[in-house]
Amino acid sequence: MKKMIQHSILIVAAVSLVSCATSTVQTKSAQAATTPQQALKALQDGNVRFAEGRSKHHDLVAQAAKTSNAQYPIAAVLGCIDSRTSHELVFDQGIGDIFSARVAGNIINNDLLGSLEFATVKSGAKAIVVLGHTHCGAVGGACSNAQLGHVTGLLDKIQPAVRKVSAKSRSAKGSPEFQDEVTAENVRLVVSQIRAQSPLIKRLEREGKLIIVGGVYHLDTRKVEFLN
Ligand SMILES: [Zn+2]
Repeated sequence: MKKMIQHSILIVAAVSLVSCATSTVQTKSAQAATTPQQALKALQDGNVRFAEGRSKHHDLVAQAAKTSNAQYPIAAVLGCIDSRTSHELVFDQGIGDIFSARVAGNIINNDLLGSLEFATVKSGAKAIVVLGHTHCGAVGGACSNAQLGHVTGLLDKIQPAVRKVSAKSRSAKGSPEFQDEVTAENVRLVVSQIRAQSPLIKRLEREGKLIIVGGVYHLDTRKVEFLN
């Protein structure tokens, strides 16, 4: 019996040693106390944990219960629908931590602008991250002028980035390097379109209550490269 208890203690100790940090949920006061820079840092730190395989333990059932009546996310991410780029996973965030807007090629339109205004002006998020990613099918499609049903109109929204890169790049159109440049350019253009097309968001940023940044998630390294 004594041996069994000792064995159990050893197992508990071992599990404690290997278990990782447990996440909590965002509260109204925590959101209010978070600065835009801190919100961005939380995402950057989360991505480092994810990339290094040190993601926190998210007790999703507990988080769902704690956030069932209200949410206080610190950031909003506008990214691609790509199955490999889940925002919560890439930034190691839990339920209620971030708004997540996803559309192929992380383009912007009035409905997505409305979503970002809801996330920030109405709901208090302190950072907007526009997140492109490497090996993006939508960017590849835009580079090759792919035509397919409603996809055609969606890819049209990436064409300004394709034209801009075509005008200045030495990379062969359609090459992986060219597509990487279009991905980054598309993110930059979307960031500037958000500022230009939403006076509400632009005012929050001017008042220092919001930060808007662009980034590219690298599928191979799992790291988000933040763009200037
Ligand atoms: Zn994509």
